[in-house]
Amino acid sequence: MDPRSRTLKGFGVSPGIAIGKAFLVDARHIPIPFYTLSTDEQVARECARFEEAVTEVERDLETIKQSIHPDLKEQVHILEAHQLILRDRLLYDQTLDLIRRERLNALWALKRSLNKITEIFQSMEDEYVRNRVTDVSSVGERIMNRLAGRKANAFDEIRERVIIVAQDISPADAAQIQLEKTLGFITDMGGRTSHTSIMAGALGIPAIVGAEQATRTIRTGDLLILDGSSGTVVVNPTEEQIGDYYELQDALETYLKEISRKAHLPACTLDGHKINVEANIELLEEVVAAKDHGAEAVGLYRTEFSYMNRRLPPTEEDLYNEYRELAELMAPLPVTMRTLDLGAEKMGRWHPGIEQQNPALGLRAIRLCLHHVDLFKVQLRAILRASAATRNIRLMFPLISGVGELQRSKAILEEVKSELRREGRDFDDKMSVGVMIEVPSAVAVADMLAEEADFFSIGTNDLIQYTLAIDRVNEHVAHLFDPLHPAVLRLIRQVVSTAHKAGIPVTVCGEMAGEPLYVPMLLGLELDSLSMNPQAIPRVKNLLRRAQLSDCRRFVAEALTMRTAAEIREALQDMVLRVFPEEFKFFDPEALQPKYRSSEPYV
Ligand code: PEP
Ligand code: MG
Repeated sequence: MDPRSRTLKGFGVSPGIAIGKAFLVDARHIPIPFYTLSTDEQVARECARFEEAVTEVERDLETIKQSIHPDLKEQVHILEAHQLILRDRLLYDQTLDLIRRERLNALWALKRSLNKITEIFQSMEDEYVRNRVTDVSSVGERIMNRLAGRKANAFDEIRERVIIVAQDISPADAAQIQLEKTLGFITDMGGRTSHTSIMAGALGIPAIVGAEQATRTIRTGDLLILDGSSGTVVVNPTEEQIGDYYELQDALETYLKEISRKAHLPACTLDGHKINVEANIELLEEVVAAKDHGAEAVGLYRTEFSYMNRRLPPTEEDLYNEYRELAELMAPLPVTMRTLDLGAEKMGRWHPGIEQQNPALGLRAIRLCLHHVDLFKVQLRAILRASAATRNIRLMFPLISGVGELQRSKAILEEVKSELRREGRDFDDKMSVGVMIEVPSAVAVADMLAEEADFFSIGTNDLIQYTLAIDRVNEHVAHLFDPLHPAVLRLIRQVVSTAHKAGIPVTVCGEMAGEPLYVPMLLGLELDSLSMNPQAIPRVKNLLRRAQLSDCRRFVAEALTMRTAAEIREALQDMVLRVFPEEFKFFDPEALQPKYRSSEPYV
């Protein structure tokens, strides 16, 4: 056995097995010299060098943006944010100022500005904003690389198909990776919700994150086995291990091919019950992935992305064009447009911004729209106008906490309809209007909401956050964020039974819906549809096809008598391994610990 052979563990975030050579991404820090400039010419030259480096990075980011893989389109927003950061006062003006006033060399001046920005960010109350410092660092590093004369793309040196090993992969790095040469990713840092995870999932490339020792243990050229399901990395494996993993790889590939071949068929249980499987998307470009993976509708279109990272809010025309294109691309399948769900602190530069002590409980989503009715009306006009041609748009309001809010929202919708009628503009007058159930108070009055809504969509990400009092973006309590908490299951059951009594359907559109482990539970809880990220659809459909509604109902009845999430999880894991051995053979249900995915996009 090779004495350098060892096994590392991390989080498996994108299933699949990769066997190949490692490529360690250069994480050497750039040496930063310090010197002062003695003449005005030197100062002018250093300023010009800095400006040129910024322009080059601007161009690099533009090139990356233009050549981005279609499945990574979501990253475009992050790259745009990075372009804005490049010219930010704190970074750009401050660095030039330091060169001019203190006669510092550009690299040192930039380092000083970055330190200052880090300090400012670290003193912020809001964890979300605090975490955005990584974007600034990533931009700063790019400029430094340029100033130090390094290559813009660390991946240029890759000559064969490799497994990339890095401390972390920033969104801009991710967009530069040559996918045809990438067998898999391993990073030291990151959790299940990191960029590497989301990107690898979107591309279907096996990946492991949080393998803390990876870059210290692995050398470029080492042979690796990466098991993206269990989170295992075998460094310099034995012949026997390689043979075993090749067999597993074959079987897994056959299975994945098989489920994607059937992804376009409906998901009917063995006892003939049909569940709709729908897609959650955030960008127009993702419609392709939704359709390719067999989505039967867009169950959630998160409309907030078009409002972010902009100097001015989008116009009605901008939104109308976007929504209409989306509706046409999906037609005749339905598209569920969720009205703006943003917090006042994340509205981009055009909004005055409000300091919020606790944004999750602050002026967000429907509250923000009811506070800024003009903004709300522009979006409603765009949605209604877009509904005219294909008549496949459904509307839903996020974070409704009671009947008053729903009535007010619907009244504004009616006002907008009247305006459009007066203007002689066409729209779908029968457009369904739904309510997202995300706040426990909405569950308590679900019977009253149901009288005024055409459907419910349970946003479990928020419903769990508000029910268990766990900030969904706070990593210190992430382990407590548990969809199987008996309180959460009881609330879901209550919503479904109330809705069904009133004759309206219920979807779950939180992350829970796309987790195979939870699917038998949601089926037994009688949900009518599940909406999830497009890549999750084939596996969920396959699982549903192999399930019996009656068995799942029975399981839910039993689970609801259990007192703790841990007990329910254990019973569920036992059940899925017994009833769906094929479905979970390659995926370790033990590894499915409570997790959350922040939908909070990058600013
Ligand atoms: C949810 O809260 O579950 C949901 C789907 O909405 P978002 O994640 O966008 O808040
Ligand atoms: Mg939500």
